[in-house]
Amino acid sequence: FRSVPQLQSLSTADLSSILQDVQRRYDAFRQRALALDLTRGKPASEQLDLSSALLGLPGEDDFLAADKTDTRNYGVLQGLPELRALLAPLFGTVPVQMVIGDNSSLALMHDAIAYSLLKGTVGSERPWVREPRVAFLCPVPGYDRHFSICQDFGIEMIPVPLNADGPDMDVVERLVGEDAAIKGMWCVPKYSNPSGAVYSDAVVERLAAMTTAAPDFRIFWDNAYAVHHLTDERIEIPSLIDACARHGHPHRAFVFGSTSKVTLAGAGVALFASSAENVKWFLGRMGKRSIGGDKVNQLRHVRALRDTAGLLALMDRHRAIVAPKFAAVADAFAAHLGGTGVASWLVPKGGYFISLDVLDGCARDFVKAAKDAGVELTPAGATHPLGQDPHDRTVRIAPTFPDLATVKVAAEGVALSALLVTTSALLA
Ligand code: PLP
Repeated sequence: FRSVPQLQSLSTADLSSILQDVQRRYDAFRQRALALDLTRGKPASEQLDLSSALLGLPGEDDFLAADKTDTRNYGVLQGLPELRALLAPLFGTVPVQMVIGDNSSLALMHDAIAYSLLKGTVGSERPWVREPRVAFLCPVPGYDRHFSICQDFGIEMIPVPLNADGPDMDVVERLVGEDAAIKGMWCVPKYSNPSGAVYSDAVVERLAAMTTAAPDFRIFWDNAYAVHHLTDERIEIPSLIDACARHGHPHRAFVFGSTSKVTLAGAGVALFASSAENVKWFLGRMGKRSIGGDKVNQLRHVRALRDTAGLLALMDRHRAIVAPKFAAVADAFAAHLGGTGVASWLVPKGGYFISLDVLDGCARDFVKAAKDAGVELTPAGATHPLGQDPHDRTVRIAPTFPDLATVKVAAEGVALSALLVTTSALLA
């Protein structure tokens, strides 16, 4: 790798000459007139191909669940027990404390909030809509669709900093302790979208133990990347459900997950897991909107995945496709931005995203420069509530969808754009 000096410590003359060199490399890239896209956190077709067998399952003669339930018919609102048994260990729960939804976990999160707003949840004094204010803590950078749900329902969003080992717990504990309007908190505890942060055991413990002013405070534990490892290390985090129970807050954890990025993003299965009482509450509401989910899809997932080990083996095959793309991005960042002091990032050990933090005030210009150079990035600000990153610093990179060759080229364009914009800013 090229060794690059800490740019902020250079004289104006040295910096100007570096800028000239960066500008030349950026221009050469732009002249290739490419049209590349790193905005989409979707599996590549090659990954979807790994689950092609699902399209032929369960098969014309195969529709009985283990207990002889006819999956073609109505019913079994909670979802097939054998699918719950397959998924429960991966999400820190037991099958009876899990509900299977249809394909989207985001829909279950949306429903959990809608139910809480309209009806209240276990331990609520009144439906959340009757409270003068309802607020959620939003670790940032975070997932824009979480923030959109809050925005849509008029829930106030309070950003809290997300570090490499989870949210800043001093801030979280202070806020939830003093403000009873804070009813919820978004968490993507493993390989977070977009920074790749993994919550430490200590953070999980503090989240479970902390005292909250709201008696019905809920942690929306969106474990979307529970099994999406990028290295040999299959990182495990403690079960939030168990930790909350241990600390006398059994109803605090609302756990969500799905097989969207395990099998088929548009035709997987989603799950909700929590205390037994919360599961009863959730099923009570859900039973009004549906007579039962798509059990044929649940059965074919059981047939295709077989068991928990089968699912993990499938994830290894995903990893073989996805990990080289992440490595290409990490290599390009290290080569062009390493040691410059103008950009920072975590090399994620799993998940679907990398976020690149550039010098404050540079993210929007960086995204624009990348676009001018032919690489589309997620808009700056999307990682924060209301699309407003107060530092204008964080940009989300999604390398899974394009092929490896494309990712390699695009990552170079991204790194050059970041370098150009930050070097120019230092001279301004
Ligand atoms: N949660 C997170 C953190 C995500 O990144 C995504 C998709 O990118 C989702 C949820 C969507 O999940 P689902 O497909 O189960 O609705």
